Amino acid sequence: MQQYIGPEGILEKRSKYFYPTTSHFYRNPPQLVRGDMQYLYGHDGKRYIDFFAGVSVVASGHCNPEIVERTMEQLRALQHTCTIYLTQPNVDLAERLAEVLPGDLCRTFFVNSGSEANEGALLLARLHTGRKGFIALEQGLHGRTYLTMSVTGLQMWRSDPQLPRLDAAEDVTFIPRPYEQGMSADAAARRSLKALKAVLEEKGGDIAAMIVEPIQGNAGIIVPPDWYFPEVKAVLEQYGVLLIADEIQTGFGRTGRMFAMDRWGVTPDIITMAKALGSGVPVAAFASNDAIATSFTRPSASTFGGNPVSSATALAVLDYIEANRLPERAERLGGLLHAGLEELAARYPRVLSEVRGAGLMLGAELSAGDTELGARLVDDVLETLKDRGFIIGKNGVGRNVLAFQPPLVITEKDITEMLAALEQALEEAVHTASSVAQEGVHHGDHT
Ligand code: PMP
Repeated sequence: MQQYIGPEGILEKRSKYFYPTTSHFYRNPPQLVRGDMQYLYGHDGKRYIDFFAGVSVVASGHCNPEIVERTMEQLRALQHTCTIYLTQPNVDLAERLAEVLPGDLCRTFFVNSGSEANEGALLLARLHTGRKGFIALEQGLHGRTYLTMSVTGLQMWRSDPQLPRLDAAEDVTFIPRPYEQGMSADAAARRSLKALKAVLEEKGGDIAAMIVEPIQGNAGIIVPPDWYFPEVKAVLEQYGVLLIADEIQTGFGRTGRMFAMDRWGVTPDIITMAKALGSGVPVAAFASNDAIATSFTRPSASTFGGNPVSSATALAVLDYIEANRLPERAERLGGLLHAGLEELAARYPRVLSEVRGAGLMLGAELSAGDTELGARLVDDVLETLKDRGFIIGKNGVGRNVLAFQPPLVITEKDITEMLAALEQALEEAVHTASSVAQEGVHHGDHT
């Protein structure tokens, strides 16, 4: 029998052996010890329905037996050789990706994480265009390496204080994202497009690529209007600037299509993938068409990238996604969840101010007018739902957005049950919001 040290034991070791930057969800976090499709289990045997999938990773379910079986088979046969030796799983995976990737994207370079995939994509864009600059959206998140952190607009994830201010970055130009609270979606997207055109007019000839999340994840689940990305792509093409779609959160069925860009019929020049591709086994990649790939001739290699075990796993993941039509499932169940959240927004407008997203990538913003209160309510709701057996996520610029990005194998019943628990939590949030408002008046009396 496994001896568990329990949440306190883990927190103690974390505080002693991890860096203080590492944070965790929940005031009273559980120790998670087992996963089974959409379920997670605590060390005390408590079962949770998972609505966050390890931050959008285990789309095919925790420890999915069909996938684990094939991972184990490869693990027993051959674990690692590196690309300097010939093995089959990585070429089979690259061939398979060429079938599912948008348009003419057909060549793939394998790495281990989302950050690395974006880093490689940015390098490829520079090699292909011979230009140095990049355009990125404000509030975007692209990774922890220096280049990917440099194109990350979300202040929270620009960990190095020596990075320049967004408006003073030399090689990266940030433009407004196609969203602004209090502005119509079309107006915000038009503003973004106008800013893009102005940058291109001024220095389009110096810019290698624009990098975007098709639906911003960490910044609170932001879906642009349907016309936005087709127009962005067309404008970029006029200046020979490549479009890099960071599909690290959105890829592999989550948004109701295999890739989010498929929603708008846009073929990016370079696409990056990670998270759901391995459903928990680290595998990531960037891909492009033949013409762009031809520019990548200088030596480059990733020791672990596309190793036999991660490649065999990713192939099993793709088989599972296709056999179980997970994109369609995400679209249908996402519609139900979206409708349920909208209903709650109508019933609790004071706390639940906006519902956003596509497929099973949904966000519900709490108390948009008062971000600090919203963030507190989000933490309360997360805690309450966890105690009632539901793991949901949070994100947003002000960390005041509830995030729903469950394994795509979740059922209608799971969603109905979670919505009932969420309703109770929102009822409590209304009381908290009123007492905070009263405290505010009370404080006001004394100042
Ligand atoms: N891009 C996006 C859109 C992400 O959400 C993340 C991670 N949250 C990354 C890049 C970085 O991926 P990784 O943590 O695997 O390096």
